[in-house]
Amino acid sequence: MKWILFFGALIGPSICGRGKFFGDQVFRINVRNGDEISKLNELVKSDNLKLNIWKSSCSVGHPVDVLVPAVSLQPVECFLKSQGLDYSVTIEDLQIYQEMDSIAGDFPHLASRVKIGHSFEDRPMYVLKFSTGKGSQRPAIWLNAGIHSREWISQATAMWTARKIVSDYGKDPAITSILKKMDIFLLPVANPDGYVHTHTENRLWRKTRSLHPGSPCIGVDPNRNWNASFAGRGASDNPCSEVYHGPHANSEVEVKSVVDFIQKHGNFKCFIDLHSYSQLLMYPYAYTAKEAPDADELDKVARRAAKALASLSGTQYRVGSSATTVYQASGSSVDWAYDNGIKYAFTFELRDTGHYGFLLPADQIIPTAEETWLGLKTIMEHVRDHLY
Ligand SMILES: [Zn+2]
Repeated sequence: MKWILFFGALIGPSICGRGKFFGDQVFRINVRNGDEISKLNELVKSDNLKLNIWKSSCSVGHPVDVLVPAVSLQPVECFLKSQGLDYSVTIEDLQIYQEMDSIAGDFPHLASRVKIGHSFEDRPMYVLKFSTGKGSQRPAIWLNAGIHSREWISQATAMWTARKIVSDYGKDPAITSILKKMDIFLLPVANPDGYVHTHTENRLWRKTRSLHPGSPCIGVDPNRNWNASFAGRGASDNPCSEVYHGPHANSEVEVKSVVDFIQKHGNFKCFIDLHSYSQLLMYPYAYTAKEAPDADELDKVARRAAKALASLSGTQYRVGSSATTVYQASGSSVDWAYDNGIKYAFTFELRDTGHYGFLLPADQIIPTAEETWLGLKTIMEHVRDHLY
């Protein structure tokens, strides 16, 4: 099997043509005849590649699912291509999924992984549910991240936050008392297809990856696709635009999955969407400059949260309604939440203010997550004390 590795290392970049990967992947391989079965057996028997068979059939016409560790991706892909084997990648960038699994596994009485739907390209959409109580309809908080795929600090902050919740529960009175009254649902990758695309093809991809008949352009801005003044100001009807609102509200299955879940649950009190960058903490509305009925209270909470956030290392956030702080934008998640009775609706634009922009260096991930946690806790404590 040494030649596979050699082959991959030698010509991998030219024939494989893929960018860098950050996580393990699951390959589904279709074997069509005995010859292909023996080729596949040869591949999986290689000790060097450390492959892990998830679903095995080893009979013609039944696919085999193989977990491929990140370091073996290139040689495996090259081998499959060079041997003409038919395969697809069913689960990409498993790091986040694995971390969700391990959190749920380590804290089974506090955290569970819930599948709320799938993406356009059929990737599962998982949320982590943190709960200490019985019943499925306790008052709840929704934490959303990664709706714009290139805003990597958002997904990273969400995963850090997940770990923080389980490790601080029972030690930090704030999160302990929040979870005594409420459940927290955390969606770390709200746009999985876009996220994979930012790893494999285009680091700055923002939209979903849906196709539009008659247009060469791909994707919808998933934060213009919600049913809140849909297709109004600050969104485009041009499929090639970065802020294309889509053919109709909820046209994106990623958005619809969240909408359906939240509506079916029926008792969400807080919705927080994590974006980057600009260091802003905003509340409705985005679609109009008109003041929201709860603007005074939301402004007060946001200012307290921004102050708590700044207390760690001095990071300054601007606070205000979305439309008056940045620009008008219709069809946003937070406006949809607010218009659907979820009063405590906030958008974070995390670090920085533009020096690195979307390409925030890795050494700022933990400092960003740590300070954001103080802001998030301030909001969640207010919700806990003002249930309605
Ligand atoms: Zn964004």
